[in-house]
Amino acid sequence: MKNKKVIVAKFGGTSLACAENIRLVAEIIKSDPARNIIIVSAPGKRTRADIKVTDLLLGKHIELVMERFRDITDELGVDVDLAFDYENRLPDYVGSRGEYLMAKIMAAYLGFKFVEIGSGVRFETNTVIPGFYVVDKNGVVKTLGRGGSDVSGAIVADKVNADVYENWTDVDGIFDRDPNRHADAMLHEKLTYDEAREIINRGARVLHPRTLQFVEPKNIPIHIKNTFNPTGKGTIIG
Ligand code: ADP
Ligand code: ASP
Ligand code: MG
Repeated sequence: MKNKKVIVAKFGGTSLACAENIRLVAEIIKSDPARNIIIVSAPGKRTRADIKVTDLLLGKHIELVMERFRDITDELGVDVDLAFDYENRLPDYVGSRGEYLMAKIMAAYLGFKFVEIGSGVRFETNTVIPGFYVVDKNGVVKTLGRGGSDVSGAIVADKVNADVYENWTDVDGIFDRDPNRHADAMLHEKLTYDEAREIINRGARVLHPRTLQFVEPKNIPIHIKNTFNPTGKGTIIG
């Protein structure tokens, strides 16, 4: 897998919140053939007042989850079995179904293979991987904590020796302060791992705090990019 350029690309919840956004994501993926190992979050908020699919699942609002996914599959015209068992299941399992179904849908839409992070798994090109959880050797689902899809992407980037780990989100990159709260926040175009760690540890939820530890040993750069402004420079860490 190492003679060709390998991009691992993770897309966050807002980027996958509805069919319209998912189409934008597919365009981004198709615009670079090297961008072919994809990690997805569960659909996030479509509006400020909306509820993330992960929160609906943890609140056991299964009907609302089904409605959201049905809207997405109908609009995209993909045929994916949305049924899953939620009774007598542990919260980690139920909470992980947003990423599970999103990855199934994305794989069907792109014509890629669906693969989960688990022991002995090999990640190939043209793969969609659900973020947020791993499957242990007994087949038990364990979630990685809220915002954990960033960590999933970093785990995969390490495993495949990616040239770059792209983290596609809903802002132009890492700013000195939350750009959604401070209109005058300034974008950092380049950060060292240490500088990024400091900003993240100060509470910027743009990257999960455990993301860097998986890419730093091999010096894999993280490129934060905005799904809604793909030509923007973004932030390069490393
Ligand atoms: P995703 O669903 O793509 O993982 P998140 O909501 O987890 O996205 O993270 C992106 C959000 O992080 C932005 O919408 C922004 O409001 C927030 N944020 C907080 N601090 C910062 C910062 N310093 N730079 C960029 N974004 C920040
Ligand atoms: N969907 C999960 C969450 O809302 C994980 C993620 O989006 O990174 O926390
Ligand atoms: Mg996040």
